[in-house]
Amino acid sequence: MSYELASGRGWVRVYTADTPAEAWHIRNVLEQHSIEARLRNETLFGATGEVPVLESLPEVWVRIEAQVEAAQLIREIRSRPARGAQWRCRNCGEVSEAVFAVCWQCGVAEGE
Ligand SMILES: [Zn+2]
Repeated sequence: MSYELASGRGWVRVYTADTPAEAWHIRNVLEQHSIEARLRNETLFGATGEVPVLESLPEVWVRIEAQVEAAQLIREIRSRPARGAQWRCRNCGEVSEAVFAVCWQCGVAEGE
């Protein structure tokens, strides 16, 4: 964890994920939209299988200027159904899981 993140200066937490994979996905989507994102606590999940305490859940942080846009994107991501068919990006042809609102490859939203 960097000092900058530890201090929180200029950065805000926009999301607390249930799993590291979810946090990584959200970071990927944000970065595809040119929003710099960083994760905290992503590596605290050990091999012990213990359920982490709330404070150690992975968090997604962005620069404060990007907070509103990031929150909107995350809301889109979260509004997707957790299960369902895969879909194929109309822009680049990449296949994404239904849980993802935007293409992994190019960041274009489903149906655009
Ligand atoms: Zn695409």
